[in-house]
Amino acid sequence: MNENVYFLGIDIGSSATKAVLLNMDGEIVDCGVIQQAVGSFCVDDLIDEIVERHEELKTGTVLRASTGYGRLSVRGIEFQKSEISCHAKGVFSLIPEVRTIIDIGGQDIKVISVSDTGNINEFVMNDKCAAGTGRFLEVMSKVLNVELSEMGDIGLRSEEPVTISNTCTVFAESEVISCLSRGESLPDIVAGIHASVASKAASLAKRLGVREKVAFTGGVAQNKGVLEAIQNALQLDIQVPGMPQYTGALGAAIFCRESYLKKNA
Ligand code: ADP
Repeated sequence: MNENVYFLGIDIGSSATKAVLLNMDGEIVDCGVIQQAVGSFCVDDLIDEIVERHEELKTGTVLRASTGYGRLSVRGIEFQKSEISCHAKGVFSLIPEVRTIIDIGGQDIKVISVSDTGNINEFVMNDKCAAGTGRFLEVMSKVLNVELSEMGDIGLRSEEPVTISNTCTVFAESEVISCLSRGESLPDIVAGIHASVASKAASLAKRLGVREKVAFTGGVAQNKGVLEAIQNALQLDIQVPGMPQYTGALGAAIFCRESYLKKNA
């Protein structure tokens, strides 16, 4: 068997394109993200960026697997797999005790129930609406003129979160504007927004049935305010893996490696 083989999992989502590179031993060698999604030409740029960083890849073979919303748009792939399968695979490899995964990305919320062997029992997704998704947070960060990456810390400083009663992004945006005009504090408004996202995710999770351990993934899992709000809504501790936005790409890379090892056994 050729030992100089690498496995690149590529997750093309609605907001961002992520890639994770594994070596023959299944160790993570590198990863990268570009904040552009399906329809852009960023996949090749991201792959080139990773390959450039590793001299050893120039003489080795890099096998690719894709997942996510835009998985069919990647050229030269070994295979493509659904994001539900890849997220479950990636998260289970990082947290084998996980039984429920809450993933919040740019335009969807997924809740996945995982068996003790890492197989998918069931999953639910939000309807086609931005409520509770990363897009909702992006819109609110613009209205508030706050960086997305700062929202988590700002929300955690809240003493009395406001209530955002509209789930519809357009109406919620007007509600946030009236909170600003009433003079509510920024931390209280941001915490209210996080609570609104959390309530959407928690109700989906309750619909599926929550079994511990629960993991929170997707780009939005980088927001500690949303994490805290979901923990409050579900009244339990939730783990965030070290690289929450990359779990789909990681799962695709793991599938790619497993398939190679099986074919070459
Ligand atoms: P998708 O797979 O749909 O492209 P991701 O799982 O990559 O979605 O998550 C994208 C979302 O993550 C964005 O919509 C944004 O809300 C959120 N996000 C990205 N970076 C950060 C960050 N540094 N802090 C908080 N949220 C972030």
